Amino acid sequence: MQPFYNEQQTMLATTVRQFAAENLAPKADEVDEKEVFPIDQFRGLSELGLTGMTVPEEFGGSGGEYKDFMVVLEEVGAACGSTSTVLITHVSLGSQTIYHGGSDEQRQRWLPSLASGKKISAFALTEAGTGSDALALETSLTRVKNAEGKDEYVLNGSKLFCTNGAVADVFSVFTNHDKDAGHKGVTAVVVEKGTPGFTINPQHGKMGMKGCATAELVFDNCRIPIENRLGEEGEGYKLALKILDSSRIMIAAQCLGLAKGALDAALSYSKQRNTFGKPIATRQAIQFMMADMAVELDAARLLTYRAAALYDEGLPHGKESAMAKLYASEAAGRIASKALQIHGGVGYFKPSAVERIYRDQRVTEIYEGTSEIQRLVISRALIGDL
Ligand SMILES: Cc1cc2nc3c(=O)[nH]c(=O)nc-3n(C[C@H](O)[C@H](O)[C@H](O)COP(=O)(O)OP(=O)(O)OC[C@H]3O[C@@H](n4cnc5c(N)ncnc54)[C@H](O)[C@@H]3O)c2cc1C
Repeated sequence: MQPFYNEQQTMLATTVRQFAAENLAPKADEVDEKEVFPIDQFRGLSELGLTGMTVPEEFGGSGGEYKDFMVVLEEVGAACGSTSTVLITHVSLGSQTIYHGGSDEQRQRWLPSLASGKKISAFALTEAGTGSDALALETSLTRVKNAEGKDEYVLNGSKLFCTNGAVADVFSVFTNHDKDAGHKGVTAVVVEKGTPGFTINPQHGKMGMKGCATAELVFDNCRIPIENRLGEEGEGYKLALKILDSSRIMIAAQCLGLAKGALDAALSYSKQRNTFGKPIATRQAIQFMMADMAVELDAARLLTYRAAALYDEGLPHGKESAMAKLYASEAAGRIASKALQIHGGVGYFKPSAVERIYRDQRVTEIYEGTSEIQRLVISRALIGDL
């Protein structure tokens, strides 16, 4: 166990590890192979209170800090990558956007059913023309009068790559209400499934994280009540950056899980597999690979813990969360690759945990800001304005 975890976090890790071993790991290959959304697994996490983590109890959540959620995600990620992506998107993207962007009335309206896991949330920022360049949003939000003379919005456009999108009930959508206003033109609204004019098109063909129900969202003259706007008009960009700054810490925690899953599989296989009359674990080439994997995993864990601790203390954490996400995702890639190498040909075939982790890990260097964007965030923080 980690020396920097308190007693409660150590117990949390033990509980989630046991749940994950019994309920997530045995189904991870099926989730991947058949591209099924892990709904039973999500419900099981809800019963443990984990879908309401970091949401205060007054809004139906189970509370907890980001350090606690980090502990959970490492265990979930080690057992099933897709389930960890579903959970991060639901908690630290979808629910947190409503928590941080919403009024108390909006929090009461949406968060209790999300925290309990009765409903699922999603976060829709990316469009066909904008990923890294999140300012170039084309999805438009126009204020109009309805038949009763009351103000409402009309939403038009589309979003891509929306995790949980195909199954979600509540979507935090980032729109542009004024294209000439730069970041002050971005406004966030909540859109509920079933809103007339809102179509959800599942997207298939991902190389990994296949269970997370990715979808394209299309808005065709959707009427959105003013009461669904999060914050004021023009506050959406700041909100998106704030949410991504904190959620990246949880992507780093997910990477710890993927890396741990790969290292555990490599350790176990290396003791069973004999070549030239001895287990491959007795060969220095294999031992040194595993030593390097363990060092990288611990370094990633320490960076992630630091970022989560800064967040929990309410201290600036943008650079540190980018460092944690950058290092943990790339380290998980190196660790997954070594684990596959240690498995030899068996690791290249399905079903094999290391083959799945190798594919699942790749997107962690892309979503919630690519590695290049993390390096931009870090270097800007180091150099400042020139
Ligand atoms: C499986 C999956 C799930 C996702 N889930 C969600 C979700 O739930 N919600 C959501 O809103 N989005 C989601 N995304 C979108 C994801 O966040 C974007 O794909 C990501 O931010 C990169 O944007 P892009 O794909 O448009 O790449 P681009 O921005 O087009 O980048 C292409 C390449 O150029 C590089 N690049 C871009 N700009 C610069 C620069 N200034 N300097 C140096 N290099 C640069 C990038 O690093 C990258 O290598 C998901 C994506 C995937 C693949």
